[in-house]
Amino acid sequence: MIKLALFSGDGIGKEVAGEAEKVLRFIFDVNSIGYEIEGGLVGGVSYDAYKKPITDEVLKIAKEADAIIFGAVGGPKWETLPIELRPEKALLTLRYDLELYANLRPVKVYKELIDASPLKAGVVSGTDMLIVRELTGGIYFGTPRGVSDIGNGNKKGINTLSYTTKEIERIAKIAFEISKKRKKRVLSVDKANVLEATELWRNVVHDVSKNYPDVELSDMYIDNCSMQLIKQPRSFDVIVTTNMFGDILSDEASMISGSIGMLPSASLNGKKGMYEPIHGSAPDIAGQGKANPLAAILSVAMMLRYSFDMDNLAGDLERAVENVIKQGYRTQDIMTGSGLKPVSTSKMGDAVLHELKNIFKSYEKNEV
Ligand code: NAD
Repeated sequence: MIKLALFSGDGIGKEVAGEAEKVLRFIFDVNSIGYEIEGGLVGGVSYDAYKKPITDEVLKIAKEADAIIFGAVGGPKWETLPIELRPEKALLTLRYDLELYANLRPVKVYKELIDASPLKAGVVSGTDMLIVRELTGGIYFGTPRGVSDIGNGNKKGINTLSYTTKEIERIAKIAFEISKKRKKRVLSVDKANVLEATELWRNVVHDVSKNYPDVELSDMYIDNCSMQLIKQPRSFDVIVTTNMFGDILSDEASMISGSIGMLPSASLNGKKGMYEPIHGSAPDIAGQGKANPLAAILSVAMMLRYSFDMDNLAGDLERAVENVIKQGYRTQDIMTGSGLKPVSTSKMGDAVLHELKNIFKSYEKNEV
């Protein structure tokens, strides 16, 4: 029996996670896969109910689940709270407490949505990359850190970039394993010419690569990589990098695809993972049925692939999403021209369900 946790959070988080749940239940039911889903409040809604962004009970549900589906948290109502009580703290607590050290962000350009990208069609067309970002180490967590007074009205701010061999080995292993399911190419991004911690990063990634002789490894400095991402995004396959470099590169890369409403993500610790769209709670469109649920739905495909090795079902779901885009269904964020079919959040979810039904039906016919 698969145990899932579903935390939809605030704003459009609720709307898109609802569509992800609809699709997920359909896939599991049709394929007679046993599962249970437990919900819980996270973010602003948890603060309103319990004066905390996440409770111990909800953390327990997360720890006991095989995988977690997460919507989004945050909103203006909670922006003035102390940092420890803000909705976003729920997300950081989950990542940290579950040690979800590997963040996967695929960036794929759909032919039909090419005009949604600010880059030229000829540059972005055919882009299909996966950024593997280290998520629980590096400069965001290193110590010493903080700001101290050093006299005469002068202050000093410190953050520490540190990585251990073990931290690098485990994220590199994830990148190599995943690349075996893709084009067998890994690019490690660092600043080894200046930062010793990333010189260690480079050396350890190369050591790990010896266990993957069929995967091609190359290296690139972060400054060059941020340039090449815009110049020739098509040339990338799997990128593995540190926490801060991955944070920046993945936001840059999201613009290649055009809409934030299309990009899913996974945060993994081995098979256990939390799956979520990369966008936030979008207070400007919340409650209006305008949110694009495809990033949340594609996060379900990532869950099927990475937590449960159900690559075929993940592929079916990704194909269903591709088909609805080809058929012209569009939420407002991906409305790129005329003659298309404008749909609400739930109608987009329904369109994906309909396509999935067709795909599953086509298998039945082939069996007869
Ligand atoms: P956002 O991602 O919520 O929205 C940015 C813009 O993209 C908005 O114009 C929004 O309407 C649009 N957008 C986002 N998702 C969309 C979708 N699925 N379909 C259509 N349009 C979509 O970022 P923001 O406005 O900077 O942040 C809003 C709140 O969300 C803040 O409180 C922020 O802290 C929080 N946040 C949460 C997460 C998370 O939960 N993982 C991530 C980012 C931001």
